[in-house]
Amino acid sequence: MKDSNCIFCKIIDGQIPSAKVYEDDKMLVFKDIEPKAKVHLLAIGKDHFKLLSEMDESRAELVKYMLCKIPQIAKDNGLINGYRLIINQGDDAGQTVFHLHIHILGGEPLPW
Ligand code: 5GP
Ligand code: ZN
Repeated sequence: MKDSNCIFCKIIDGQIPSAKVYEDDKMLVFKDIEPKAKVHLLAIGKDHFKLLSEMDESRAELVKYMLCKIPQIAKDNGLINGYRLIINQGDDAGQTVFHLHIHILGGEPLPW
């Protein structure tokens, strides 16, 4: 399912351009437009849902799929010395795009 008002759904559809680094039938990984580390990628599922708090068994399968793919994608993007995954949930975390995404940050030592 897609949400026609969602910028990440528009990126999936190609209506908004992005620097894609990996794509298959279930997920897309692209470069964050405002990188917070030397390497900052965003992994999104091709099924739209807004929040981690909307997780259910089927959505968890998609997130599991993404987590299984991310180590190889990270390696392919030069993250050989470690990286950090972040999911922001809601306002206090500063979530700004309401299509669940996993930040992949690295390419340098990260401040806590
Ligand atoms: P959040 O704060 O919701 O966890 O993260 C949203 C992220 O999406 C931010 O790091 C922001 O820079 C990134 N972002 C927002 N709009 C776009 C866009 O149009 N293209 C790309 N590549 N990244 C975006
Ligand atoms: Zn979406």
